[in-house]
Amino acid sequence: SHFSELNLHAWIEENIKKSGYDRPTPVQKYSIPTLNGRRDLMSCAQTGSGKTAAFLVPVINRILLEGPVAIKKATIRPDGKRCQYPSALIISPTRELSLQIYNESRKFAYRTPITSALLYGGRENYRDQINKLRLGVHILIATPGRLIDVLNSGYIGLEACRFLVLDEADRMLDMGFEPQIRQIVELNNMPPKGQRVTAMFSATFPKEIQVLAQDFLMPDYVFLA
Ligand code: AMP
Repeated sequence: SHFSELNLHAWIEENIKKSGYDRPTPVQKYSIPTLNGRRDLMSCAQTGSGKTAAFLVPVINRILLEGPVAIKKATIRPDGKRCQYPSALIISPTRELSLQIYNESRKFAYRTPITSALLYGGRENYRDQINKLRLGVHILIATPGRLIDVLNSGYIGLEACRFLVLDEADRMLDMGFEPQIRQIVELNNMPPKGQRVTAMFSATFPKEIQVLAQDFLMPDYVFLA
């Protein structure tokens, strides 16, 4: 099979080609139509399987297709802070993985109006990260702890988020991030399941991940082994 069979917006199809990707990997072949069709997804994909494009392609494709109507403009809060409303949120366990996702996102969104932004821990770059949000953010890629700080500070609102991705969910739980993830998804004006598309990626599928899938995904979610 070929990417041209996946009914993608011409701009992202072009950028995929430019990346040198010819054929979708198995996880991409099944994830992309599932997420394009607005079904939730639980995918047991390993690193190296092409899982990053498996969620980024449908995210960017949807934002391109829906266009500006889907995008909530930034607002200025009473305290003067500018609050941005990403259309898609991708939560990942580490700075390294977030950076990888960000770079791939920039590649696929090349020469489109879609902007991505990155939030991860480390005291020295907090201001830089906040300042970059001023350029606008359709796709926010973040580690859990730093995202909560920024949500609490009022620079990001999740009410317009239509796409939620948890990457390497098992690793995030191993690192003790479950309370933070639940806080982000359940306590921050994130649209409830059914009003967003949610994709979870996890190399393993233990009891704790099954519970998270039950809580975050629609009951008819697609399970991809
Ligand atoms: P990932 O599992 O997303 O970390 O991807 C692993 C590696 O495979 C990365 O270097 C990607 O750039 C590459 N890759 C992802 N999808 C494809 C594809 N369809 N064709 C060729 N390479 C790919």
